[in-house]
Amino acid sequence: MTLAAQKIRLILELRQAGITDTEILAAVEKSPRELFVPPTFGDRAYDSVALPIGHGQTISQPVVVARMIAALDLNDRIKVLEIGAGSGYQTSILSHLCRRVYAIERHRDLLRDAQERLDMLKRYNVTAVVGDGMKGWPDQAPFERIIVSAAAAEVPDALIDQLAEGGVMIIPIGDQRRDQMITRVSRQNGVISMDELWPVRFLPLVPGRPDDRKTSKRASV
Ligand code: SAH
Repeated sequence: MTLAAQKIRLILELRQAGITDTEILAAVEKSPRELFVPPTFGDRAYDSVALPIGHGQTISQPVVVARMIAALDLNDRIKVLEIGAGSGYQTSILSHLCRRVYAIERHRDLLRDAQERLDMLKRYNVTAVVGDGMKGWPDQAPFERIIVSAAAAEVPDALIDQLAEGGVMIIPIGDQRRDQMITRVSRQNGVISMDELWPVRFLPLVPGRPDDRKTSKRASV
């Protein structure tokens, strides 16, 4: 099957999974997943699975990305904070559906590759940095939407602080050893509420940056 045919199959799979929003489906169509996976996995780019991207991390499964984005309820006036940009695949889809994406990734070389792909695709409304997403992005806060692509035991306080009034955050919450729950965190009239949406399995949200860890190890010797 050609890549184009595989892409059509993916769109059909997403529809079957209940993703009917045509703008989301169009954004998936405009984000060629084959560019976001390592060349050795090129022929599996459109399989509905997570694939390795290095540093023990994975590009998320398309249906998971699409469902989380649907739960975010985006429009073109909204500014989104994305934690765990990884390959940049989800970043690309988000960038078609909102005003600007602020993306954070803790691995410098994953972010560099993601940035190259996003530049190639002319996703000019993305600002991406290397950093610890658990701290959010205070200089750009508040955010109307926050999406976290790695699982935390609980919602990081900094992200709650940076969620705008009327804002929504979608984040997998729970124990690493079992399924986590995709959780919607909302702020309405200053009150934070949380709803569990559906079970998932994500890699962990890891505090700090790999470079920092080396520094602190050295400091502790
Ligand atoms: N959605 C992305 C990848 C998700 S994998 C894609 O489709 O490609 C989860 C990503 O979160 C990994 O790249 C991992 O390095 C990153 N991550 C984990 N903890 C983080 C943190 N504290 N800050 C920023 N990124 C983090």
